[in-house]
Amino acid sequence: MNHAPELPCLAGRTRRFLWIAAAALLACAGGARAEDQPKFRDPSLPVEQRIDDLLSRLTLDEKIALVHANGKFSVSGVPRLGIPQLWMTDGPQGVREEISADSWDPVGGSDDFATAMPSGIGVAATWDTELASAFGTAVAEEARARGKHVILAPGVNIMRTPLCGRNYDYYGEDPWLAGRMAVSYIRSVQAEGVVTCVKHYAANNQETARDSVNVEMDERTLREIYLPAFEAAIREGGSLSIMSAYNRFRGEFCGENDYLLSRVLKGEWGFRGAVVSDWSGTHTTAGSVRNGLDIEMGTNPPYDANFLARPYRDGIEQGTYSMDGLDEKVRRNLRVFFASGAIDGQRAGSINTPAHQKIARRLADEAIVLLKNENGLLPLDPKKFSTIAVIGDNAVIRYAGLAASAGVKAFREITALEGISERAGPELNVIYSRGYRQLGHSDEKALREGTPLESISPEAAEKLAARAVEAARISDVVIFVGGLSHLLGADDEGADRKDLTLLGNQAGLISRIAAVNPRTVVVLISGSPVAMDPWLDKVPAVMEAWYGGSEAGRAIAAALFGDTNPSGRLPCTFPRKLSDSPAHASGLARHFPGENGTVSYDEGLLVGYRWFDAKKIEPLFPFGFGLSYTTFAFSNLRVRHDPAASAATAVVTCDVTNTGQRAGAEVVQVYVEDVVSTAPRPPRELKGFARVELKPGETKTVEIPLGPRAFAFYDPQTRVWKIEAGEFRIHAGHSSRELPLTASLTLEAAVVAP
Ligand code: BGC
Repeated sequence: MNHAPELPCLAGRTRRFLWIAAAALLACAGGARAEDQPKFRDPSLPVEQRIDDLLSRLTLDEKIALVHANGKFSVSGVPRLGIPQLWMTDGPQGVREEISADSWDPVGGSDDFATAMPSGIGVAATWDTELASAFGTAVAEEARARGKHVILAPGVNIMRTPLCGRNYDYYGEDPWLAGRMAVSYIRSVQAEGVVTCVKHYAANNQETARDSVNVEMDERTLREIYLPAFEAAIREGGSLSIMSAYNRFRGEFCGENDYLLSRVLKGEWGFRGAVVSDWSGTHTTAGSVRNGLDIEMGTNPPYDANFLARPYRDGIEQGTYSMDGLDEKVRRNLRVFFASGAIDGQRAGSINTPAHQKIARRLADEAIVLLKNENGLLPLDPKKFSTIAVIGDNAVIRYAGLAASAGVKAFREITALEGISERAGPELNVIYSRGYRQLGHSDEKALREGTPLESISPEAAEKLAARAVEAARISDVVIFVGGLSHLLGADDEGADRKDLTLLGNQAGLISRIAAVNPRTVVVLISGSPVAMDPWLDKVPAVMEAWYGGSEAGRAIAAALFGDTNPSGRLPCTFPRKLSDSPAHASGLARHFPGENGTVSYDEGLLVGYRWFDAKKIEPLFPFGFGLSYTTFAFSNLRVRHDPAASAATAVVTCDVTNTGQRAGAEVVQVYVEDVVSTAPRPPRELKGFARVELKPGETKTVEIPLGPRAFAFYDPQTRVWKIEAGEFRIHAGHSSRELPLTASLTLEAAVVAP
């Protein structure tokens, strides 16, 4: 059975707008009757009929123009027929600033600002699918305000290694969590008449040699770990475009990969939209034409010489490639044109509205993960002290513009120092000391262009550190804001980190500060796990705030002072040391970052917590973990399964009670364990979750459905998802390592519908 979504039905408001637009068009045409209009102009007709009509009117050159770029982020329309060009934009944190047509230089305009949302990893840390939807709505409204049809997001690559330079852009290490966030986001963006482009398909899990590295893994690992978020984005979310990754997979570039594109995506998943290459990720005309690419983007001018331009047209004229094949690509691309309003016109958008700012703020609030809180230091009680030292370069960096292709020219970005100062008000004395330097962030462009890095002498570094230690000594409480910065290969697109260390000798500085002031809180701003030795035991409180977007500093201050109650949960495992992580356990280059051009995912299914659980390694902080200023208790786990139902589905319910004194939110996490299996399976896997807000003393019953896939594994021999007969345990609780409730159910053997 084919579950491929139909073209997403445009929301009611959009439909109404299209009718009005069509009526206006007719009026402009001097009262021309509807039947005089070409069919493709008639919004009352089914899209496929409109495409048939349009396709029949196009010349070969016009078709060719629709399958490759005509600028950095645009694809030509059909001027002869009054069809304007299609505009794409990055990206995962909001609508990117305008980039020049033929180079990566920003246009430098004054009207290309946008609201900066938190990075993908922060969004995942909310575990809040409704908020992911709200994010999608806001971003789509901003995209329309900026005249964009396609937004190059979300990024759903799985965190295989904590070192991946682009972990910040993605939704963490678990396919179920990543898939749920992606589906919510995609549906709401596309309901707003903007098309999403889910990326980077597939197995783009490191930045080292990202343009060329070949990824090898077994079929189960592909199907169970690296593809499910893409599959959900396409089949459930209905994303109308997808970006092929830069890397090779099983020897073929992803943009020319018959298996990934033609067989799995278009064949098995019934994808009907456009495969867009990553920028300059196209390598040959033949491979792209034959193996599933639909739009070539990012290749340099002259665009007519691009792989899918003149060489393609010549190949058609010479009979090397078929016209049917080209029509198929054009048809797919026109679906994107139609669904995004590129042909009928878009509704007006809006930018940086109070509603958008509120969504950015809620995302930043809910993303914050409280990792440690001893001696009741947090939330800070301003009545108990008069001087706060804010220490750290990270407290003053504005990150939104530094996030490479996820960068946003933010209307504003509240830094941690600004947020804390604002919240402290006139009563409290806030002193700031930089403490260390994240070198280079002051001149990102120079850095990227290869200008020698700024350097700091050991004497100057010590001077900065000593001043910070003195500030800590004379203060009642210290808020150390540290972490990574998007630069120097630290959460930096195009480069992986070398290790887990915090740059600028932050670790040493935190230890020195904690020695003079035991009331030290560490706030981390990063997009991936970082090392916390030797300082973790020396400080009473730590929170991970990720890159929080426009409202980041306010969210940090609100969490510190208890105006909000932290509710984020880790979307990735924080290891104690790098060699505890699956990709680094062997220490062999073939496992990371690759040897002779190939990286082998020999850890197989055991990615993230699956590895730590199977190998019984204690993580620093486990997947799903996060504290609150209140406490929660779980009870009454029940699993309902109807053995008569044709599909093996179950409904898990459990009660969760706020047992503390403050309102707060818990994320109920459900993990499935296959007790007896002929195929090796990870000990437990996340298959459902629900975020629930509770007043003090309140109890709510949550209901979490489990579909057949929750119990199944992919059988590479028969190429189907299978459930083996027998017992399954359902674990529910706070995190992958704290699952107080267990129930079991017995299932019959079944083959799961694809
Ligand atoms: C990135 C994509 C991005 C594209 C356009 C590429 O380098 O990998 O994620 O959408 O550039 O900026």
